[in-house]
Amino acid sequence: MAYDSNNIFAKILRGEIPSHKVYEDDDAIVFMDVMPQSPGHALIVPKAASRNLLDADPSVLSKIVPLVQKVAVAAKSAFAADGVSIAQFNEEAGGQTVFHLHFHVIPRYAGQSLITHARQMEDNAVLAANAEKLKAALSKS
Ligand code: AMP
Repeated sequence: MAYDSNNIFAKILRGEIPSHKVYEDDDAIVFMDVMPQSPGHALIVPKAASRNLLDADPSVLSKIVPLVQKVAVAAKSAFAADGVSIAQFNEEAGGQTVFHLHFHVIPRYAGQSLITHARQMEDNAVLAANAEKLKAALSKS
């Protein structure tokens, strides 16, 4: 299927809708997931257009994975997590709901299962506070 530039992450990248932004460089943006599966759930989004991993340019992937690692390390520290899950879904049957490539970084705690994917909106104030925590941890890395 073709990339559709009307997807919500493309709109965030164009500045047409707001996000709780944590980080941005020439190649990528990081912002908080509005329906977190765990407190501190963040999304790493390459600026280059692709639906998902399946149609992404390998050069985009080689730049984005080190950033996913950086955010995962920062999130583990910022949210005092025991571990971190990295998720990435491809096409509807693969669990994808927004069709612009992104990676989920989800802080995890021993014995705690995840909140269901893309189901429950978090308060703006909580998202803003978590974005600041993650930003602070990233700036130390
Ligand atoms: P996926 O199912 O992998 O495509 O994940 C899409 C993710 O985007 C879900 O976890 C949603 O909670 C999240 N999401 C949807 N709309 C927004 C938005 N406007 N800002 C931030 N996250 C969003």
